[in-house]
Amino acid sequence: MLSVTLPDGTKVPALGQGTWHMGERGGQRKAEVAALRLGLDLGMTLIDTAEMYGDGGSEEVVGEAIAGRRGEVFLVSKVYPHNASRRGLPQACERSLKRLGVETIDLYLLHWRGSVPLADTVEAMERMRAEGKIRHWGVSNLDVDDLEELGAALADCATDQVLLNLEHRGPEYDLLPFCADHRMPVMAYSPVGQGGALLRNPVLAELAQARGATPAQVAIAWTLSRPGVISIPKAVRPEHVRENAAAGGIVLTAEEHAALDAAFPPPKRKRSLAML
Ligand code: NAP
Repeated sequence: MLSVTLPDGTKVPALGQGTWHMGERGGQRKAEVAALRLGLDLGMTLIDTAEMYGDGGSEEVVGEAIAGRRGEVFLVSKVYPHNASRRGLPQACERSLKRLGVETIDLYLLHWRGSVPLADTVEAMERMRAEGKIRHWGVSNLDVDDLEELGAALADCATDQVLLNLEHRGPEYDLLPFCADHRMPVMAYSPVGQGGALLRNPVLAELAQARGATPAQVAIAWTLSRPGVISIPKAVRPEHVRENAAAGGIVLTAEEHAALDAAFPPPKRKRSLAML
């Protein structure tokens, strides 16, 4: 499995599993737990969740999936912006720990920027780190100007999780180079475009067919081809989980990159960060 290095030298898998919309419907729970366990078996041992997903339901599903396997997993969760204050963040973190059934979250992210000053969030994150409740902290949906505002704390920010896929290449213009300069990996969310129009793109479909892969696999392989990028596709259907895990072994050729660049042109100027 490919890996990516966090600023403090910790190695994490470059291909993980997302969990948005898990834990929303009780009838799906068994399938969701099974999907995450299958993903772990196949080496996708980084799992991304958030207190927002399913109102905590996703964290509970993750907790069930990793029970007895905590040592294998690099666990990522996120705090709501309105909970990211000096007082609110520790309480939200405790609730997440309980739902996940763990003592420590490996990487805890500010989900997006709200009205709480970033300095307050950083202070609370650092306190959680000192207390061993989290191992690393990071952010999500922050553009370059927000990251710059972190100032000296930027050195301790482990990642920025952003919308990055073939249809949303804006971060390649300035965010990816900025994060690379700070040796900070970027986590690409919605790498298969939520299973929508991206996967029906004729260029992507043809290219995938020609190499005996699926469009989703090529879309994931493309995110992994960006240096320092962690890709976190979400899948419940076991055939999707298997496909996604195998995408970690796909290395796109220069010709394939050229074809994808023609169909999904890279940004030529700054675009503000898109988010879902
Ligand atoms: P995604 O991973 O691009 O797409 C998930 C959808 O695609 C699901 O409907 C899934 O179906 C389907 N799918 C997965 N693998 C497939 C395959 N091989 N072939 C065809 N369809 C496939 O979208 P996402 O869930 O938005 O993003 C991934 C993760 O990133 C999230 O789950 C979440 O953890 C994180 N995220 C973070 C933010 C943020 O603000 N920080 C925002 C969005 C997402 P099945 O489930 O039915 O298998």
